[in-house]
Amino acid sequence: MSDCIFCKIIAGEIPSAKIYEDELVYAFLDISPINFGHTLVIPKEHHQSAATIPEETAGRMFRIASRIGILLKRLDEFDAYNLHLADGSAAGQVVMHAHLHVIPRGAEDGFRWNWRQLKYPEGKMMEIAEEISAKLKEKITQ
Ligand code: 5GP
Ligand code: ZN
Repeated sequence: MSDCIFCKIIAGEIPSAKIYEDELVYAFLDISPINFGHTLVIPKEHHQSAATIPEETAGRMFRIASRIGILLKRLDEFDAYNLHLADGSAAGQVVMHAHLHVIPRGAEDGFRWNWRQLKYPEGKMMEIAEEISAKLKEKITQ
């Protein structure tokens, strides 16, 4: 896609700190990292949403991201890593070329997810599960 910043990075039109590339995916350092080594793994084909990425490419993204996460742990004083994907603006997606963040984490790194924990009213949890499950079954069999 001609005006996509990540497509330009893949094409070499914009420089990047590349750490991995194969026929399906490209991985490079995020320019504004949560911790140093924070990596983005992207499909070479332009997809705005992760939902349209073909299964083989999505699987490769996940596998490479996990391997990079393990390597990042060994590389520095990191204990763990987060995989994060924002799908849509309301979820925090800023660059509209799907990307999987690999964020190296240390127990004392000072970064916290602002993760709230709501409580379901009585019966609501099963109701929502059944609704999603039924719709998912329809979609998968379509
Ligand atoms: P999002 O918020 O869409 O999940 O994440 C987009 C990420 O892309 C951000 O973390 C941002 O720092 C990174 N980013 C945006 N533009 C560039 C760029 O030109 N080069 C690199 N390496 N990272 C970028
Ligand atoms: Zn793109």
